[in-house]
Amino acid sequence: MYIDLHIHTTASDGSLTPSQVVRYAREKGLKAIAITDHDTIEGNKEAIEEGMREGIEVIPGVEISVDYSPGSMHMLGYFITIEDTALAEKLTLLQDSRADRNPRIIEKLNDLGLSLTYDEVVQVSGGGQVGRPHMAQVLMEKGYIKSIQEAFDKYLGKGAPAYLDKFRLGAEEAIAMITNAGGITVLAHPFTLQCKSPDELESLVKKLANQGLQGLEIYYSEHNERQISNYLRLAKRYNLVITGGSDFHGKNITGIDLGTGRGNLKIPYTLFERLKTVWEEKRKRC
Ligand SMILES: [Zn+2]
Ligand SMILES: [Zn+2]
Repeated sequence: MYIDLHIHTTASDGSLTPSQVVRYAREKGLKAIAITDHDTIEGNKEAIEEGMREGIEVIPGVEISVDYSPGSMHMLGYFITIEDTALAEKLTLLQDSRADRNPRIIEKLNDLGLSLTYDEVVQVSGGGQVGRPHMAQVLMEKGYIKSIQEAFDKYLGKGAPAYLDKFRLGAEEAIAMITNAGGITVLAHPFTLQCKSPDELESLVKKLANQGLQGLEIYYSEHNERQISNYLRLAKRYNLVITGGSDFHGKNITGIDLGTGRGNLKIPYTLFERLKTVWEEKRKRC
């Protein structure tokens, strides 16, 4: 009896709808799954309802991107209350603040004395997604710079005066957001943090545990044996629940299959039961 607690659908960047994911999970013989789309809980309701019809336990989930460097930090939230309006509002805010990043960059360029408008940038983008390369092109056409590279070096690149980071929550805020919605926070795929040593990872995990982190995603498509044993040691030391998932995106990321990852994932149902117990104990305390 196996599970998969890290799955994306068309609600974020996956290629299958929530219902299709559930039906595929049944085909693959999975007993429990969680939908963990990026910064959205939109796909959960449909998946949970389909799960009831298909006889698969579907628990509500989300994956939140956190402000962190040099690597990337993602937090998984499980058993969140999807009807929680405060959570929905915060997630909408996260999405909106990303969408209006472009006009804010243009404003910065204007403040630096470069004249360009959002409409001009949209025009050169050809109707697709609008981004900094299009701004660079407009700047070049207007003679402010000689090459796209120069635009990035002088104005648009990381550390340059018109650079604007994507808006992200801090780790503590992300944990609080999940906790306040009644969920359990799990640190996703720790290898993407790009910690330079096991000690560096340990001090980070210790800090996050003090901020309310309750679990580590240990069984994951990209983790090797050595990483897994290191993460298991940390989970034991800081009393963190162990989870696992494939990070399935359907056709959008090839080579990773639901439940089995790159072919060798087997995440036992007992981990799901343990996660559920931790959540139930937490709920009783509240
Ligand atoms: Zn992730
Ligand atoms: Zn993911």
